[in-house]
This record gives sequence, C-alpha cells and structure tokens, in this order.
Amino acid sequence: MKLTKKEVEDLYKKTLHLVKTKPPEFFGFRKMRGTVGLCYWTDIELDYRRDIIPTAFHELLHYLYPEWSESNILYAESRIMNVCSSLEIARFLRHLSYKLYKSEMLKHFLQKPSRIESVSKSAWKDNSAK
Ligand SMILES: [Zn+2]
Repeated sequence: MKLTKKEVEDLYKKTLHLVKTKPPEFFGFRKMRGTVGLCYWTDIELDYRRDIIPTAFHELLHYLYPEWSESNILYAESRIMNVCSSLEIARFLRHLSYKLYKSEMLKHFLQKPSRIESVSKSAWKDNSAK
C-alpha cells in the first residue's frame, strides 16, 4: 500500500470527522494487557498509559477500514503522524479529549448512582434552605 499526501489528508479528515460525530460512549479509556487499543463495531478503547494519539488514529482506521490488514493500518497510522501538521494533531486531540472526558464522566456517574442521588439531595437541601 502507498498513500499520497492527499490521501493521508483525507484519512485525517475522516478520522477527525468520526471523533466529532460519534457519541462520547464511542470512546473509552481502559488499562489493557498485551495491547494499547481495541476497536469494536460499537466503540474503541485506548490504554491511557500508552501513546494515545497514534493509537486513536490506529483504532479509528480499523473502524473505517475493517478490511485493511494490520500492516496497512500501521502504515496509514505512521503516514498520518508524519504528514499532518502539529496544528492538525492538536485539533484531533482537542476533539478526542473532549469526547473521552464526557465518556469517563458518564461511566463514573453511571457506576455510582448513589453519588448522583446524594449530590442531588444535597443540592435540593441547599435550595430549600434559601
Ligand atoms: Zn491494529
């Protein structure tokens, strides 16, 4: 596989579009063993202890091109990392971190419903005291 600069720019735009349009739950952080990222049909997961940016491109490419071989994905990932400007990478990271933050917030509060309850109860108490 060979990718021209133009084709790499297209891949960048497609992955950025996914990050912008997928719901927060599509993105998740998790500690993993033996791998740094995973791509499912419904979501992707990233190990936050590893290189998040290239891994995110990698998993999004798997999602976009399930028929591509692992070596083609690795090649496209490295082309994106080398061709894109630091501004483009920063833009990608900005959108990705926004989604990951929302996703982790959702996970955090869904796993601890008692916490929401106690927060809203105390909020109600504060309101009623005024
Ligand atoms: Zn892979």
